[in-house]
Amino acid sequence: MSTAILIKYAEIHLKGLNRPFFERQLVQKIQSALLPQTPRVEREQGRIFVYDLPESELAWAVDRLSAVFGIHAICPAHMTDKSYPAILAAAEALVETETKGKPHSFKAFAKRSDKNFPMSSEQIYRELGHDLPAKFPHLRVDVHKPELSLTVEVRTHNAFVYTQEIKGAGGMPVGTGGRAMLLLSGGIDSPVAGYMMAKRGVSLAAIHFYSYPYTSERARDKVVALAGILARYAGPVDLYLVPFTEIQMAIYEKCPQTQTTVLMRRLMMRIAERFADKTDCRALVTGESIGQVASQTLESLAVTNDAVKLPVLRPLICFDKEEIIQTAKHIGSFETSILPYEDCCTVFVPKHPVTKPRVDKLRESEARVDFAPLIEAAEAGTVFVRVKSEELW
Ligand code: ATP
Ligand code: MG
Repeated sequence: MSTAILIKYAEIHLKGLNRPFFERQLVQKIQSALLPQTPRVEREQGRIFVYDLPESELAWAVDRLSAVFGIHAICPAHMTDKSYPAILAAAEALVETETKGKPHSFKAFAKRSDKNFPMSSEQIYRELGHDLPAKFPHLRVDVHKPELSLTVEVRTHNAFVYTQEIKGAGGMPVGTGGRAMLLLSGGIDSPVAGYMMAKRGVSLAAIHFYSYPYTSERARDKVVALAGILARYAGPVDLYLVPFTEIQMAIYEKCPQTQTTVLMRRLMMRIAERFADKTDCRALVTGESIGQVASQTLESLAVTNDAVKLPVLRPLICFDKEEIIQTAKHIGSFETSILPYEDCCTVFVPKHPVTKPRVDKLRESEARVDFAPLIEAAEAGTVFVRVKSEELW
C-alpha cells in the first residue's frame, strides 16, 4: 500500500474533441505546481493521478494543488493491489486514522472502471459496509448523512481508497483560454479581476503605470508582490512597469480638470493595447465595476473603450466591493492591496470629475496634446519583469 493523489477535474469533459488538449494542459499545470518535487503525474480515464510523492510532502502538495484551475477535487488516497483483502486493509487503515476510535456514522461507495475485477461495485461497498463495522464497533452505517464517506475506485492497474475529497479551485487550466493583458493597479480590485480571468483558463500579462516621484518605489514593489500572488494561480505573469508621469503632467496641465481621470484611463488603455498587440494578448482586463467611482459609470466605461480596438473585459463589473474584498482575502491579495502606498490615479484625482463624459469632448481635449512622442517615451522607459510565484517580497 502506498499513497497517491487522485484528482477529479472540472468542466473539461465538456470539451469534446479538445479534451486531450485540456487534459495535457492540466497535467502540465499540476507538474509545475508541485515543483521542485517531480512526482509521476498520469491521466487515466477521467482522472489524473499523482504517484511517488513522499508521504511528508502530501499536505504541501494538496495546498499547492488547491490553487490549480481545472481541478474539481483533490483526494489523497491509499493505493493498493486490486484484491478485496488489500482494499479492505487500506480501508481499515483509513478508518483508524480518520475516526481514532470515536463513534462515526459512515458510508462506503465504490466505482469500478476495470470491469474484469471479480466483484461488482455494489459487492465491494456492501462487503465493506459489513466488514468495517464488524472490525470497528464504533462505526454505524448511515447512507444518507454519513460523517465518514469511504470511496473505493478500482482502476486499470490499482485500486484507490480515500475518505477526503478536498474542493479544488474549479475553472479551466490556465493557457487553455488564450492570453490577456491585465491593467494592474496597487488596489484591491485588479488582482481579483486577474484571478477571475485566470480561473477561466486565460494566461496573464500585466501592465502597471506609475508616476515616480509622485508615487514611491514601494508602490511599485507592491505591484510586483501582487503579480507574485496572482502568479500562484495564473502561472508566471509578464509584468510591464510603465513610467506615466510625463503623460499625467501633460493631461493635468493642458486638459480640463474635470476630465483628467477619464483621460488618464484612455491613455492607459492605449498603451496597454500596444503592449497587448506585441505580446499575443487578445483582450484588456480591468478591475472596474459599475458605479464604484466617477470613472466607472457606463458613460465613462464607454469613453474608455473608445480609446482602443481590443475588447476590454471587466470581470468585476457587477460585483459589490464587499464581494470583491472576500475574494481578495480568499486568494491572499487583500493584505498586500491595502498597504498604504499612493496609486498614480489618486495623486491627480480631480475634485469634481465628470460622471457622464462624452466621447467627442474627450477627443477634443486629447487633441490639445501631442501624445504620440509621450507614449513612445513611456514605452521606451518601460521595465519588464517576469514575476513567478516565489518572488514575493
Ligand atoms: P483597484 O482596486 O484595482 O485599484 P479602483 O477601484 O481603485 O481599482 P481605479 O483606480 O478607478 O479603481 O482603477 C480602475 C481600474 O483601472 C483598475 O482596476 C485597474 O485595472 C486600472 N488601473 C488603475 N490604476 C492603474 C495603474 N496605475 N496601473 C495599471 N492599471 C490601473
Ligand atoms: Mg486603483
